[in-house]
Amino acid sequence: MAGENWFSEFERRFGDGDEVRVFFAPGRVNLIGEHTDYTGGYVFPAALTFGTWVMVRPRRDGWFRFASRQMEREVHCRVDEIRYRSEDGWANYPKGIIRQFLEQGAEMDGADMLFHGNIPMGSGLSSSASIEMATAVACQALAGTDWPMVELVKMAQHAENRFIGVQCGIMDQFASGMGRKDHAILLHCDTLRYRYAPMELGDYRLVITHTNKPRELADSKYNERRAECEEGFRQIRPWLDNAACLGEVDVGMWQRVRERVSDLTLRKRLTHVVEENARVHASVEALEQGDLIAFGRLMMQSHESLRDLYEVTGKELDALFDAARQVDGCIGTRMTGAGFGGCTVSLVHRDAVKTFQEEVGKQYERQTGLTPAFYTAEIGNGAHEVSEEVFTSWRF
Ligand code: ADP
Ligand code: MG
Repeated sequence: MAGENWFSEFERRFGDGDEVRVFFAPGRVNLIGEHTDYTGGYVFPAALTFGTWVMVRPRRDGWFRFASRQMEREVHCRVDEIRYRSEDGWANYPKGIIRQFLEQGAEMDGADMLFHGNIPMGSGLSSSASIEMATAVACQALAGTDWPMVELVKMAQHAENRFIGVQCGIMDQFASGMGRKDHAILLHCDTLRYRYAPMELGDYRLVITHTNKPRELADSKYNERRAECEEGFRQIRPWLDNAACLGEVDVGMWQRVRERVSDLTLRKRLTHVVEENARVHASVEALEQGDLIAFGRLMMQSHESLRDLYEVTGKELDALFDAARQVDGCIGTRMTGAGFGGCTVSLVHRDAVKTFQEEVGKQYERQTGLTPAFYTAEIGNGAHEVSEEVFTSWRF
């Protein structure tokens, strides 16, 4: 109902009763380290200040009821019938998490859940991980379990892989669960070793620009790049003593062995991966010294490498990149995600955000005929409960 606030909607749908609790989990953006995760390298995501909230009230009759303010369909399901059903659409995301909890031995006797999200869905900011992690922290409270956040992260990835059937890596759920305000996370996806790096934006804002290009190509090219990296590494491996995967090859090692890769295309792909990993580490150093300008430069080098060496940008992302870097006050910009569409992320002085949107919007439309969407975000905390004082003051 138009204008209806969140809590009234909850009561209208589910009736009045015990107190409700509210949980939040953010979306994420990968700041640098693209196409490095599947070769044992590093990524560098941050949690955003937008994401998915869930208002929850436990039930005692074994029924779950799922509703979302962004979706028409309300789904009801008994606790012993939590299975994937394509007709349940979006509700399979929370169901997948509940299924994980049940499989791990948690006891739940049903709940009413009303979701509310403000991440554009399907644009690469991981609304899926955010709805999963919001459900996971809510289930933790319902079931009274005390599992570490990293375990919830793994359960959410598992749910997305096995229950939903999307073969995502762990970065999205990890950033959504483990994010920390004003920090980015240096994450090694294979081992889940991680470290926070300070990312004080000060007068700068993260502007995320969505190409609004329908996603295509990305999956097939993704698989092709993976295969190229595997093949390239196979060719250099005999000449490397101490690297078990491409992610462990540093720039010096690569200089010594690069001639062993005969195919020039493969050589370009590997050069990207090796140098991108080096850029991730250089980014951490720059940010630890509070040098946002240096970090911005690394972002642009990353984009150029993804464009020229890895060849996964495409004309839309390149148009956004070219337009963004011409705007005064934009100190860094690059594509983020798998490529061929999705978003760019840019560091823009707060006084220049409006001009940035106008200029980039105009130039992008002229070049591609598409209208981009802009989101200005800050870096926030990972999944958590929202206190009652806070959520009762909200109007949405
Ligand atoms: P992305 O993760 O890039 O946003 P996905 O296709 O992986 O895109 O996930 C989007 C899906 O997640 C939506 O189609 C929907 O099923 C579910 N989802 C995300 N946010 C919400 C929400 N607020 N309410 C209901 N479903 C949501
Ligand atoms: Mg997703």
